[in-house]
Amino acid sequence: MEIYLARKQGFCSGVASAIEIVEQALAKYGPPLYVYHEIVHNTFVVEYFRKNGVLFVENLRDIPEGGRLVLSAHGVAPSIMEQARNHGFTVIDASCPLVKKVHREAMEFVREGRHVILIGHKGHQEIIGTSGYVPKEKLSIVQTVDDVKALQLSSETPVAYLTQTTLSIDETREIIASLQKKFVNLTGPAQKDICYATQSRQDAVKELAKVCDVILICGSPNSSNSNRLRETGDRAGVPSYIIDSADELNIEWIRGKERVGISSGASVPHCVVRDVIERIRLMFPDSEVKYFKNFEVPDQFPNNP
Ligand code: SF4
Repeated sequence: MEIYLARKQGFCSGVASAIEIVEQALAKYGPPLYVYHEIVHNTFVVEYFRKNGVLFVENLRDIPEGGRLVLSAHGVAPSIMEQARNHGFTVIDASCPLVKKVHREAMEFVREGRHVILIGHKGHQEIIGTSGYVPKEKLSIVQTVDDVKALQLSSETPVAYLTQTTLSIDETREIIASLQKKFVNLTGPAQKDICYATQSRQDAVKELAKVCDVILICGSPNSSNSNRLRETGDRAGVPSYIIDSADELNIEWIRGKERVGISSGASVPHCVVRDVIERIRLMFPDSEVKYFKNFEVPDQFPNNP
């Protein structure tokens, strides 16, 4: 069996920076350190920080006066930032700059008097954060072409769309095309919002799909970009599975396959991928790891395992 590793996978710059910020804050202040929501959507990373004194909270009320608070990579609504400051917390913002760019675009479209349509997953932290920059009556969230069809807005309404940074490029293209069909006065971001990290990881899965019989995506169930990688593999016609750790690997998925592709979401440390490779090698001792040209050397997280 050959094991192919996707050329581009694992930590994106936004995740690497958020993790670095938490590590630095822990070193500077010591525990307890509070993080609003999961710092990134990955079980291994969250558990690692939990063991090192980080408390993940869903509500600012759970933080005592004077607490040190890190805001997660997904960004927050301005009201959360304001509440945190009013509570007197020391606020450390680990929001990804690319998410903040989307926030600025949302504010600009609101200033222009446009109705803002967010393409993304309702309930995802990034969409909740971005929604906070748009008045409720000026906001719609769509996830599918059918959602676009169901929008109760006249075709003349000045509309702008923005996208969650971690969506499937192919699916988003279809949704934008349906918006273009429906609205005569539609604008979008000057540059696309699906970030380069999302795009390059999806491209690398398409490359895997050309040579592999099955694809394994390392990623947590709540990780948007990891789920989109699995869908990208499936859409390319190769059975693809998402696993949070080596323990979730089902031998039946890979038994009898000649080439197994492995990739990982933007929030997944490479140690998770290493564990999966080791597990496959235990099952199939003759398996050999293959690298694409320009394979990027992955992260070394955690530094002190
Ligand atoms: S996936 Fe993109 S937008 Fe999201 S944290 Fe990473 S770099 Fe930032």
